[in-house]
Amino acid sequence: MSETTIVWKKCKKCRKLQHPDHLRCIQCKNTTFDTVKSSGDCKLLTYTILNAPPSEYRDKKSYTIGVVEYSNGLKAIGQIISSENLKIGMKLTSKFQKLTENLDGKEIFGITFKPT
Ligand SMILES: [Zn+2]
Repeated sequence: MSETTIVWKKCKKCRKLQHPDHLRCIQCKNTTFDTVKSSGDCKLLTYTILNAPPSEYRDKKSYTIGVVEYSNGLKAIGQIISSENLKIGMKLTSKFQKLTENLDGKEIFGITFKPT
């Protein structure tokens, strides 16, 4: 699996990072941004395993959500593909991909992480 670069918008006025994209800064309502990209692998900061997932994940008995930090300091939250042998500080690769379908059949996308 190849690495995916995640792009954040950084407000030119207050420097708040935001992902996913918004037309206006979620902190100061400014409308001009710089872009900041994730770099390389990321490390796992914390995670939790949901054993009663919402109906969109009806085909799974559980799923795992994690918070990671990239080598340039950016942090992101997303779904970890595996829930076994996870350790705080371990290296992960990230990818933006389809997560599931909602109850109307619409595809839901997000960031996923996978142990290297
Ligand atoms: Zn701002």
